[in-house]
Amino acid sequence: MLEMIEKLLVLQERDRQIRRVQAELAHIEPERQVLKARASDAQGGVERARQKAKEIESHRKELELEVAAKKQMIDRYANQQLQTRKNEEYRALAHEIEMCKEAIFKIEDQEIELMEQAEANQKETVKAARVESETTKLADDQIADLTTREQNLKRELAELEASREELAAAVDDSAHARYDRLIKSKGENVVVGVQHGVCGGCHMRLPAQILVTCQAQQELVSCTNCGRILYYTRDMALTVPE
Ligand SMILES: [Zn+2]
Repeated sequence: MLEMIEKLLVLQERDRQIRRVQAELAHIEPERQVLKARASDAQGGVERARQKAKEIESHRKELELEVAAKKQMIDRYANQQLQTRKNEEYRALAHEIEMCKEAIFKIEDQEIELMEQAEANQKETVKAARVESETTKLADDQIADLTTREQNLKRELAELEASREELAAAVDDSAHARYDRLIKSKGENVVVGVQHGVCGGCHMRLPAQILVTCQAQQELVSCTNCGRILYYTRDMALTVPE
């Protein structure tokens, strides 16, 4: 094989490795954000449960105050009953007292309901706290793993890039420039084998003269269709089998 082709193939392989490592690195930060969001969702669950407990408690206190106010009213009406001599007024006050007592019953029903809610919410809080601690621990572990992976990939990338510079320096300037131009326009597969008489990049049939020049292995040959650099090795059939 032409020595320049060999060098270009090594360079092309190194560039593939660099792109693979760069692609892996690009995934790290989004993955980290997903893990952080998961942990913060779990924390939100605990905060919501705690907030609800506060709301239930303050509602319960309001109801207690209402009961106390109704009881004061009952005392006042009872006092007024003692002082009145009019039957009609006495009955009206008795009616007011009855209304207050009914109101207190209703409030007490609400209090019982709130206590049940508080109990259920307490269980939710315990569960949410457990989920939070498990999720946070898992996320922390996974984030630590990601950071280790990121460091390893960065080290690998630095090594690959250093070695790429050495490889590129060994390729002569015009071939290097041709290779770089092709990489920009065609992507990562620009030094391609001839397979059954077609270009390994664009898969178009190559003219006979190109195949002969390619087989002679004296110079860099380009595909007449796509411009990729062609090479021939003995294990590649040069022409389409009949
Ligand atoms: Zn081609």
